[in-house]
Amino acid sequence: MNDCVFCKMIKGEIPSYKVYEDKTVVAFLDINPVHEGHVLVLPKKHVVNLEDVSEKLLNKTIKIVKKFGQSIKDNLAPGYNIIVNNDPVAGQEIQHLHFHVIPRYDKDRLTTWTRNQYGEGRVELIQKQLKIN
Ligand code: AMP
Repeated sequence: MNDCVFCKMIKGEIPSYKVYEDKTVVAFLDINPVHEGHVLVLPKKHVVNLEDVSEKLLNKTIKIVKKFGQSIKDNLAPGYNIIVNNDPVAGQEIQHLHFHVIPRYDKDRLTTWTRNQYGEGRVELIQKQLKIN
């Protein structure tokens, strides 16, 4: 946590291009943007993954994510992606929960996922494994 780059940015120990700040949530420009205007929105409290954050704090954070979606559409681009990388295996480089809000443009040639098909019996099995109440 003490080595967390985002915690240091929140404390002002590392410079950042802040685009929003309140008591619990902060947003700044990603220093290596997918497109200009790529914003990172995060709770100030150090939590690692989405499943670690309280619903109250998540609610406050996602409201700001939503506002940046609107700001991007009003000011920059016709659409956007929201991405959260959870855990290193999913591409998470900084272990402090953050929402990427990424402007998207027509024919910007960014690929998202490759898609697959379920094999015999797999979709029913996975449905059983993942079901929540
Ligand atoms: P992730 O891979 O989801 O953990 O994303 C981490 C993001 O933080 C990357 O998109 C980086 O470009 C961004 N990043 C790393 N260091 C900084 C920094 N000092 N200021 C702004 N963005 C940063």
